[in-house]
Amino acid sequence: MHKSLRITAIAAACAVAGGVVYGAGAATAGQSTANSTHEPYNIGLLVKDIDTYYGTTADANGVYQASPDSLYAKDLARMDAAAERQIDQAARKAHHRGERPAVVFDIDDTLLLSLDYEKRYNYTYNSTTWADYVNKADRPGVFGSAELVRYAASKGVEVFYNSGLSEAQRTAAVENLKKIGADVNLDTAHMFLKDKANPPSYLNACATPGTWTCTTVQYKSGTRKHIEDDLGYDIVANFGDQYSDLDGGYADRTYKLPNPTYFVS
Ligand SMILES: [Mg+2]
Repeated sequence: MHKSLRITAIAAACAVAGGVVYGAGAATAGQSTANSTHEPYNIGLLVKDIDTYYGTTADANGVYQASPDSLYAKDLARMDAAAERQIDQAARKAHHRGERPAVVFDIDDTLLLSLDYEKRYNYTYNSTTWADYVNKADRPGVFGSAELVRYAASKGVEVFYNSGLSEAQRTAAVENLKKIGADVNLDTAHMFLKDKANPPSYLNACATPGTWTCTTVQYKSGTRKHIEDDLGYDIVANFGDQYSDLDGGYADRTYKLPNPTYFVS
């Protein structure tokens, strides 16, 4: 992911560390409040909302895990069911017409869940700790996503990966995806990672060897254009947890997975 562009919260958890959270509407007689229409949502309450949404608990190793019974899991299950119906239908149509259907998956927080990292570091980003985390290749799967990858493949739909992870992170990404059961097309012809030093020629509008000015949308949509225009596939569905994974066209349908923990522009 284009981590330098991430917008993150700072030291969020400290606001609730003492256990004192002032709820909305808890004003007492004689208390003066600003009545501002501009005050953002309280960050301590937001952290609690995020924990509730994922059903976050620490496991025996102290690793934060999302609950399979959470609202997060339910949102994903609803989206996955709709996606399977659409992929099945699109695949039949494409095969009937003699076209080659494909699906595209982002990796971070679309296939591999980074909740432990995000909570541990209070939803901030640091390139060193992030690289260490990714290289452990031990992230859990996003609920249902590996099944969706295998479902698409079972319908004769070509699976591609379109990720902001770097070439240096390829080995760890492949190992981690195998571990969660997304063991489909994990080769260099199907997994597109960011190679800033040696960008592919189809990105030449924003990247040449030694210069990289691609935005996330340019990089990701440029990769999808390559899959469609150069490789000859029709992308029937594109999955991502950020709008920048989905904007810029070159997909018949986009699926935005939930992720309230950071924003990548
Ligand atoms: Mg992502």
